[in-house]
Amino acid sequence: MRTRSTSCCVYNSGYRGEDLRSVSLRFYLLRKHGYDVSADAFLGFKDDEGNFLVEDTRSILSLYDAAYLRTRGEKVLDEAITFTTSHLQGVLQQLSPPPNEVYLALEAPLFRRARVVEMRNYIPIYENDATKNESILEFAKLNFNLLQLLYCEELNKITLWWKELHDESKLGFSRDRIVEMYFWMNGACYEPQYSHSRIILTKITALMTILDDFFDTYGTTEQSMQLAEAIKRWDESATELLPSYIKSFYLYLLKTFHSFDDELGPGKSHHVIYLKEALMRLVEAYTKELKWRDENYVPKTLDEHLEVSARSSGGVTLASASLFAGVGDIVSNDTFEWVLSYPQLFKSFDMFVRFSNDIVSSQVRLHLCTF
Ligand SMILES: [Mg+2]
Repeated sequence: MRTRSTSCCVYNSGYRGEDLRSVSLRFYLLRKHGYDVSADAFLGFKDDEGNFLVEDTRSILSLYDAAYLRTRGEKVLDEAITFTTSHLQGVLQQLSPPPNEVYLALEAPLFRRARVVEMRNYIPIYENDATKNESILEFAKLNFNLLQLLYCEELNKITLWWKELHDESKLGFSRDRIVEMYFWMNGACYEPQYSHSRIILTKITALMTILDDFFDTYGTTEQSMQLAEAIKRWDESATELLPSYIKSFYLYLLKTFHSFDDELGPGKSHHVIYLKEALMRLVEAYTKELKWRDENYVPKTLDEHLEVSARSSGGVTLASASLFAGVGDIVSNDTFEWVLSYPQLFKSFDMFVRFSNDIVSSQVRLHLCTF
């Protein structure tokens, strides 16, 4: 809340600076906090031939990070990215060995970086800044060390859960990437108050990965349909539907969701109901894909394809899970219902995840074919 009111002050300040670094920083902060600020502020920094009138690396870095918060059609920011990238690549060789700020920026623009890694990277850089504030530096280090302790505790709980899942379910095919999944969820919410969310989201991601692999590769169609039916029933008695080797996994899935009640604390049982619903919708999409595969059915249009494949990307399942598991009492049941109604915003997000995922997968396949 404090961040929001600070952004509000920045937004209402009516700042019309002539210094590109400050204008870029203001633009970056406001866009990042959801304010509708115009990119026209950057037009005044170009000459008649369209070149940016700036040479110092600090301002160029600031413009580079701001420009990545562009939206479609913002030509001035497209041009800013081309200009700043080329300039930063040019100066990289003259700087101290990586990781320096330019190197990190070229690796990924600021808003895409995981905050906690960014903290770790930036502390030594700030330490060498002649204008540094010693108190801020000390608090930053203290904060990082405290967070690290908390993350270790969370990882301890998660790896114990993961080990128990393996011991009980004995599923040989599941990918052993639990720490990577935790780190991914940490990128989504790194603040200490979201400890329960990180734990729940990591477990859900791990379960989703196992389900995805089962439906895609390891289960037969019959077994996958049986598992889908059992998930729809969501009751221990549904194990009667399942082949023996998947029964323990199914029971562990139910047990894990049951444990979320304790994890979320009293009065949050309805959050778990929404979490289940989100997972069920995902499994529904998996079964549709499976039917298409078995019938050798090729969707006639991209829209028809995306109706199922966007959903099966799991993007919205995770986004809804982060809402159901991540917020306190500030979100009402109406909001949860709205999320589950699959509004356009969420459909677009799913499409984004599906395309991003498939572009990378096809590149990997191409690479494997080439070499
Ligand atoms: Mg799949």
